[in-house]
Amino acid sequence: MTLKLHNTRSGKKEEFVPLNDNKVGMYVCGPTVYDDCHVGHARSYVAFDVIRRYLLFLGYDVTHVQNFTDVDDNIINRSAEKGVRPQELAEHYTEEYFRDIDPLGILRADHYPRASRYIKEMQEVVLRLIEKGHAYEVDGSVYFSIETAKDRFGQLRHQSLDEMLNGARVEVDERKRDPKDFALWKAAKPGEISWDSPWGKGRPGWHIECSTMATALLGNTLDIHGGGMDLIFPHHESEILQSECYTGEPFARYWLHNGFLRINEEKMSKSLGNFFTIKEIYERFEPMVLRFFLVYTHYRSPIDFSDAGLEEAERSFERLRVFRERLKGSLKEAVQTDKGDPSPFIALAEEARDAFIKAMDDDFNTRNAIAAIFTMVGEGNRLLDSMKRPYPGEGLNTLMETFDTLTKDILGLRFEARERPAGALTPALVELLIEVRQLARNEKNWALADHIRAKLKEMGIALEDSGEETTWKFVER
Ligand code: AMP
Ligand code: ZN
Repeated sequence: MTLKLHNTRSGKKEEFVPLNDNKVGMYVCGPTVYDDCHVGHARSYVAFDVIRRYLLFLGYDVTHVQNFTDVDDNIINRSAEKGVRPQELAEHYTEEYFRDIDPLGILRADHYPRASRYIKEMQEVVLRLIEKGHAYEVDGSVYFSIETAKDRFGQLRHQSLDEMLNGARVEVDERKRDPKDFALWKAAKPGEISWDSPWGKGRPGWHIECSTMATALLGNTLDIHGGGMDLIFPHHESEILQSECYTGEPFARYWLHNGFLRINEEKMSKSLGNFFTIKEIYERFEPMVLRFFLVYTHYRSPIDFSDAGLEEAERSFERLRVFRERLKGSLKEAVQTDKGDPSPFIALAEEARDAFIKAMDDDFNTRNAIAAIFTMVGEGNRLLDSMKRPYPGEGLNTLMETFDTLTKDILGLRFEARERPAGALTPALVELLIEVRQLARNEKNWALADHIRAKLKEMGIALEDSGEETTWKFVER
C-alpha cells in the first residue's frame, strides 16, 4: 500500500514520494503571536500533528518546522494598545501557545523559527530578488514585482491573477508599481519596531518570513508545506514566487491545506469575533475530547463547532477509554493464567490495523480510520463477552498493542485519568462541594447532603464515603 495525499498544487491525490529517500522536510505556517489561540488554530496544528505522526509511523524521518510570526501589524498594534514592547507581547503569547497546545498532545516541532531572529537572512533574500530584477525599492520599502514572475503564478489556486485578487486582502499602497505587487520589506513608520537594512530602517513583510525560514531550515525544496486554506492566497502563492525566483528551484512538492473550523458556516476567526479560545474549551472539556473532536473529521473538510459536537466526541472518546480499561484489566488477569486460543484477538487486531492503514493511506482519512477502531472496539467487546476466562494473554496483548499504536501513536490520543470533570466543574470545585456536604452532615442536614450527592451524580460524579473521608470518581451519566 502506498500513501496518497491531496496536493493543492495539482488539485488531485498523488502518491507521496519525498525528494530524498525517506527524509521528509515539512513546514507548517504557525501563529501570529499577539493573542491566545482559538479552536481554529488547534484544528490546524492537530491536523498536521496527525499527518506528521502517520509519516513517522510509516518510517519516514520527518523534520517538522513551524514558525512563530513575531513581527507583524497585529503585534505592533496590540502592543501599542497594551503599552508593552512588541517583543514582550510576542514572547508572552509564544509561551501561551505552548500552554494551550501541549495538552492536546501535539508533538513539538523540530524547529520553531521566529521571524525576528531571521532578519539578516530575509534581507539577503530581498537583496538577491532585487539583483535578479524581481523586486524594486521605493522610499525605503521593497516590493515584489508580480509582472516578472507571471508564469509562476496561480500554482495553487488555478485562477488568473485578477480572479484571485477579487475579494482577497491586498494592501493598498500607492508606491507600488502595480497594485498586485506585495511588500517584501516595509519602511518603518515613526515609533514602530524596526531593523537597519540596506533600504533604511524597516521590517520584513509577512510572506518573506516563511519563505526565508523554510528554505534556511529545510533546503530549497520542501517535501510538504502546510497551513489552513485561508493561506493559499495570497500567502502561499507569494511564498512560491519569492522562493522560486530566489532559488530557481521548485519550492514545495506537496501543498496540504486544512479546512476551516466554522461556527454557523463561517470560519472561526479573530477578526469576525466568532471564536472560542482553547482555554475556554478546557474549562468545560478535557483536552483529549477536543483533540478527538478535531481528528474525527478529515483534515480537508470543514468542521462545524458546537457544544453538541463536543459532547458527542466526549461520549465516543469515553467508549475508547472504557474499552482500553477493560483490555488492561483482562490483560492483567490473563498474564497470570495465560490460556486459550489467541487467534481471534490477533485476527481482530490485524483487520483493524489494515483498515486503519488503508484509510490513512487515502489522504489521511481519519474519519474512516476511527471507524476501523470502533469496529475493533465493538468486536473486541463481543469477543471478551463470549469467551470463557482465563483469557489468552498473547491475544489480548496483540490487541492492546494495536489499539495503542493506532489511537495513541498515530492519532495522538491519551487515555490517562481525566484531568477535569464534566460540565463546568473543576476538581477544586468538586472538593469544595464535598466540603459543603460534610458541613451539612455535621449539622445533620441530611436533605442538603443528599441533594449535593444526587446533583453531582447527575453530572457524572459519584461520591463514596468511607468513615470520615469522602472520595469521588467519574461514572457514566
Ligand atoms: P493565523 O494566526 O490566523 O495566521 O493562523 C495560524 C494557522 O491557523 C493558519 O494555518 C491558519 O490557516 C489556521 N487557522 C486559523 N483559523 C482557522 C480556522 N478557523 N480553521 C482552521 N484553521 C485555521
Ligand atoms: Zn507562512
